[in-house]
Amino acid sequence: MKKLNHLLILLASIVILTSGCAKTESADYPIQPVPFTSVKLTDNFWAPRIMKNAAVTIPIAFSYCESSGRVKNFEIAGGLDTGTFKTIYPFDDSDVFKIIEGAAYSLQTNPDPKLDAYLDTLIWKIGLSQEDDGYLYTNRTIAEMHGGKGLHEWASRNRWELDSILSHELYNLGHLYEAAVAHYQATGKRSLLDIAIKSADLVDKDFGQDKVKVYPGHQVIEMGLVKLYRVTGEKKYLDLAKFFLDIRGPRGDAYNQAHMRVVDQTEAVGHSVRATYMYSGMADIAAIEKNDAYLNAITSIWEDIVYGKIYLTGGIGATGGNEGFADPFVLPNMSAYCETCASIGNIFTNHRLFLLHGDGKYIDILEKTLYNSMLSGVSLSADRFFYPNPLESNGQHERQAWFGCACCPSNVARFVPAIPGYVYGVTDDELYVNLYISNNAEISLGSKKVKVSQKADFPWDGRVEMTVDPESDGGFIVKLRIPGWARNEAIPGTLYMFAEQDDQAYRISVNGEQITPIMENGYASIKRRWKKGDKISVDLPMPVRKVIADERIRDDSGKIAVQRGPVIFCAEWPDNNDGKVLNLVINKESVMTSEFVPGLLGGTRIIKTSGNQTRKTLGGEIETLENEPVTLIPYALWNNRGPGQMMVWLPTTPESSKPLPAPTIAFRSKVKAGKITRSLSAVNDQVEPGSSNDRSVTYYHWWPEKDQWEYVQYDFEKPEIISKTKVYWYDDGPDGGCRIPDEWEVLYLSGNIWKLVKAKSPLKVTKDGWDSVDFVPVKASAIKIRVKLNKDYSAGIYEWVVD
Ligand SMILES: [Zn+2]
Repeated sequence: MKKLNHLLILLASIVILTSGCAKTESADYPIQPVPFTSVKLTDNFWAPRIMKNAAVTIPIAFSYCESSGRVKNFEIAGGLDTGTFKTIYPFDDSDVFKIIEGAAYSLQTNPDPKLDAYLDTLIWKIGLSQEDDGYLYTNRTIAEMHGGKGLHEWASRNRWELDSILSHELYNLGHLYEAAVAHYQATGKRSLLDIAIKSADLVDKDFGQDKVKVYPGHQVIEMGLVKLYRVTGEKKYLDLAKFFLDIRGPRGDAYNQAHMRVVDQTEAVGHSVRATYMYSGMADIAAIEKNDAYLNAITSIWEDIVYGKIYLTGGIGATGGNEGFADPFVLPNMSAYCETCASIGNIFTNHRLFLLHGDGKYIDILEKTLYNSMLSGVSLSADRFFYPNPLESNGQHERQAWFGCACCPSNVARFVPAIPGYVYGVTDDELYVNLYISNNAEISLGSKKVKVSQKADFPWDGRVEMTVDPESDGGFIVKLRIPGWARNEAIPGTLYMFAEQDDQAYRISVNGEQITPIMENGYASIKRRWKKGDKISVDLPMPVRKVIADERIRDDSGKIAVQRGPVIFCAEWPDNNDGKVLNLVINKESVMTSEFVPGLLGGTRIIKTSGNQTRKTLGGEIETLENEPVTLIPYALWNNRGPGQMMVWLPTTPESSKPLPAPTIAFRSKVKAGKITRSLSAVNDQVEPGSSNDRSVTYYHWWPEKDQWEYVQYDFEKPEIISKTKVYWYDDGPDGGCRIPDEWEVLYLSGNIWKLVKAKSPLKVTKDGWDSVDFVPVKASAIKIRVKLNKDYSAGIYEWVVD
């Protein structure tokens, strides 16, 4: 019998070795995630969203890949069709790979033979597009069919050479490897995995200390190679991932984190998606190779983000110019970039840091990001997407069906089906419960098999009923995460804090008996001999909490935000006073109650409170109007009812609000101009700039027109007697295309005739200040200013006032 066992083991190892896809027994994260395939969600919040991702997001994402030419690129490169490169960017290949990854995840929980077959065809096309030596980059392959014509300007004549800049050759491959591993694990088919291995072997052959030494311009291949290493056991892929990290810096660009060696970096800088993908790759290496230098770097960077560069919604990357990080505490709300991909990348990084350290603070950030800035990236209908996720809007933001650069929708498509994989983590004798979502899970702790189930109504209610069902009685530790928000902590660190302490304590009981477990790193640890049917109840208090920001965040000064459980709330136009919310003031002491509204936004909790609108008076004061009800909805659900005003940080003083303009003649007029744009409303919004080049204030401009006369006109409600007018010009010199104009004149409408006013002094043209003119009083039904644009420059107006 013994001998036979040995023989079986020997046979098994031969099978494993020859299959080439065995997982080697080697070091990895001390805590292992419980794969999403073992966790079946049964809740009303995430499970329907995962279904919708499968039913709506993935099919439309593939259909955009077909209609935009992304799939056609593979067909042409593979010789199935002829023509030139069909899309805009050389990284367009990556979208197809990311959606395959999402589809593979989705297949594991939502079997779909049609989708499975579609993937087979698509993978066949990808295989044909791969060159004989393993190179895969449709833009170059297609260009070479045309004698090099059509090669993207971001790519070099020779392979790889411009990857540090913009070619994205290695970026595409990183997503290919992630997709290949997902597809192999989902279907057991090697088709895409073999393509990935052939590609990775070429990269391994071409790159190295004495070979091509170019670091990836957009990180992600590091994570992809680690996944390839895990599934094949080939150490060279792990070494290659480390090579790509170690050759970064020190004299490159901060934009893609190449300004220093990765191990010397302590601050989050540059493009935030590139950054988080890199930190995630570093965490993987730190875990597998026990690399302290990597670990120290990402730990410092995490603190730099959480203590100064993250929004209350979990969004990161404040500025659009670099699609990335700004200085600490520079967190403007209306122009917040907070790319959806960066939220997903931040979740990747925080999950890995949890797996390394077993500390709940990483899941606090993960949960905050998941329920707010990540989720805001996709509409309830699952077919509209945000690229940036701002915290305030004047109606200029709206989710789109697709983008020329489609990184965000394809990232949503692959992230959502993997959400159940973030619920639990395990070691041989510990079960970490990180997220409270109703589910049934089958979990292995070492050799012990345990069925675990949760019943909860998260994120709306903090009560959770769990069952722990070990196959046989046994001792192990259940570690229940007690989120920061249930322990009076709005976020790890002090960037945001609850305005008041709340004394309600969380409660835990086992089999009906209340217990007081030890708290360790954000987890309540219950060590006991668990037996079939054991029940745990967790009660996390969820009062409505007011949040204040570190005073160094200028845009949040004099304001509060509202949080309940992990959910951040906002005021949105459809629920509040005639669609206006930006001029609201909320009393700091105002009572806030929460209720569930089944018919609203697919069923959601809302918060009810009261506040006042503010308005400027004709005397220039700020007037507070009558108290009225104010309704708040979860931030992630905004913009599902059309574009309009929205605000997360609610002013508590009239001075910190954006008051409605005073009922001046100009404000009550109808504005006309030679060129009508959305920004025309700036001319009478009563927001005065600090200078002629103040970018924080909206302005109206005639760019690119120049060397001609233009006009703006106010049509009055009723004839008015006027005697004075003043203008504040826009001028973005020396860099921009607008300057103060050459001259201007003022006309009024009397009857049907436009007449020039009789000015009491010559009309001046001034930069950084008002140009004011008094004229002989006239009764008019309209006033117009005509503006002569400079020969070489256009012009614009911040504000135009009439008295
Ligand atoms: Zn993106």
